[in-house]
Amino acid sequence: MATPLFSVHGGHSRYGDGTGDIWQFAEAAERAGLIAFGFSEHLPEPSHRTFRSEHLFLGQRDRAWYVDYMDDVDTVRHGFAATVDILCSIEVDYIRGAREWVLSQLARLDLDYVVGSVHYVRLEDEDVCIDADRESAEEAVRRAGGEEALFLTYLQHVRELLQWGLVDVVAHFDLVKMHFGAFPETPRLRAAVEETLEVMRTAKAVIEINTRGLKKPCRRMYPEPWILALACRMGIPVTLSDDSHSPEEVGFKLEEAARMAYDAGYRRLTRFHQGRKRSTIPL
Ligand SMILES: [Zn+2]
Ligand SMILES: [Zn+2]
Repeated sequence: MATPLFSVHGGHSRYGDGTGDIWQFAEAAERAGLIAFGFSEHLPEPSHRTFRSEHLFLGQRDRAWYVDYMDDVDTVRHGFAATVDILCSIEVDYIRGAREWVLSQLARLDLDYVVGSVHYVRLEDEDVCIDADRESAEEAVRRAGGEEALFLTYLQHVRELLQWGLVDVVAHFDLVKMHFGAFPETPRLRAAVEETLEVMRTAKAVIEINTRGLKKPCRRMYPEPWILALACRMGIPVTLSDDSHSPEEVGFKLEEAARMAYDAGYRRLTRFHQGRKRSTIPL
């Protein structure tokens, strides 16, 4: 497949929970032959009640990093302009009730687009991280009343995130499977996925194929092929993400992701440009 490759979500560097400097990611993107690479560092979390407080480390950082992050991305944007289209984004966490706080943080940032994620599910008045250790994920299953029930609650959070009206890309659509593998495609689950994709369509949000799931216990791309095929039939645009957390991970399995999009029925990929502009390229 000769499709030009790119990544809209990744570049998690030493500014967040990754390793490496911004310029090292840009260099890796150039080396991998990517036509575009979007940085989407994690927005710090607001204060919220969590099941295990050690998951909250991102919320306790010095906020001055915003300026340094934007400056660094801007520097490589110019330095690599001849080869890679460098873009500046951020990964926003959905925390129920935190919209105003998130808006106040985003107001300081000049972003090309916004990536939105659900890493926490609110259960019994606490946010339980489903993106951390297995113990927490199992606690989430226990509190939700089973794996299917957790997935349904998780999707409810994704819809609430979309209702914030801030998100251009929905990250790792079925992240909840991370420790468990693919969930059975039950009628209830299918209906909830369809309902969530419908909200995405209304919000004009893009779904990503995120290759990082291959490195996780589930050893699968996000999302499942059946979800992607449904998204395609519903007219939801698709994009590619390596969700890299180190320069070595830049470009990881993006070709496979493009093939997955094709197999799901897509014939075009959506990418972003400076200033919230989008375009499509043929697969
Ligand atoms: Zn994420
Ligand atoms: Zn990420």
